[in-house]
Amino acid sequence: MFHDIKLGDEGGRLAAVARYDIMDTPSEPQFDNIVSLLKTIFKAPIALISIIDDRRQWYKAIDGASLVEIPRDTSFCNYTIQSADIFAIEDMTLDPRFVDHPMVAEAPHLRSYLGIPLTSPDGYNIGTICILDTQPRRFGPDDYATLRQFAAVAITQFELRQIASRDGLTGLATRRAFTEAAERELSRFLRHGQPVTLVIFDLDRFKSINDTYGHGIGDAVLKSASAACEAVKRNEEQIGRIGGEEFAILLVNTGLPEAKTAAERFRKAIEDATIREVPDLPFTASFGLAQCNAEASDLATWLDRADKALYAAKAQGRNRCCLLY
Ligand code: GH3
Ligand code: MG
Ligand code: MG
Repeated sequence: MFHDIKLGDEGGRLAAVARYDIMDTPSEPQFDNIVSLLKTIFKAPIALISIIDDRRQWYKAIDGASLVEIPRDTSFCNYTIQSADIFAIEDMTLDPRFVDHPMVAEAPHLRSYLGIPLTSPDGYNIGTICILDTQPRRFGPDDYATLRQFAAVAITQFELRQIASRDGLTGLATRRAFTEAAERELSRFLRHGQPVTLVIFDLDRFKSINDTYGHGIGDAVLKSASAACEAVKRNEEQIGRIGGEEFAILLVNTGLPEAKTAAERFRKAIEDATIREVPDLPFTASFGLAQCNAEASDLATWLDRADKALYAAKAQGRNRCCLLY
């Protein structure tokens, strides 16, 4: 289907893992269905889909065990991602690399493994799909062929998921992807208490730009404003297009006074942006900021608070940032 597999380029591999932005996301039925079908077809007690970053093997889907993740250096699949194809262990007790492994020597007493890397279209092994058994097994060409087909189905799902997470016009995170990121930051805040601020911004009098110049020019403004924000965005800041001409930014480790400075950076970037088609067309946006707090700790309430601050920015004359304390 594609690729020269790039083994040995760990930096590129980790960047590919990061691009999928999938680690620590909730379970999704398309992946759960794949592992449950795999488990049935191979009559194996455990089947899973995993992603491996620099330290962890994390399970996007697992059927037959309730693990969430394990350290990378105890992972069988860590061998698989270093190969270009199938990695099989027919009897772990006969293999000096695995005989003393805690999951072999102790419960659940694993004995066999069949896995294959999940390779991105640009050739990086981001994770694996595999089965595990508590019995020794012989694997043959039919098993390999079946597992290869499963890998193709799984990587297609990863690709579709990634496409669905990027907005077609602006290239920013979609509402769905942004919401997922915000949920993650919200639970991190509830666990660790580091400040996190949500910014919502909305283009000013955008309807009149559409009405005066047409929808195509409106789209060019949306693209230019998005690109301007991307250009001044710091690494740890996440931006999404959450509505037609409405956007949101997550500012992690940032309380309100610093968040105001950050929002001003984005406001100014949009104010200074232009479009090629109508170079003197001015456009601006209004910003609402709300810091996450433990009393109003669900996402809907948090978004609602940022929206109220945005409404205040509109009411006070637009092209400004308002905070909600
Ligand atoms: P305000 O300053 O109060 O936000 O005024 P506004 O005119 O920006 O607000 P309003 O909600 O009345 O209009 C938003 C407009 O954005 C209406 C809609 O047609 C337009 N819009 C939404 N999505 C897109 C898009 O993808 N492309 C274009 N060109 N226009 C869009
Ligand atoms: Mg709007
Ligand atoms: Mg608007």
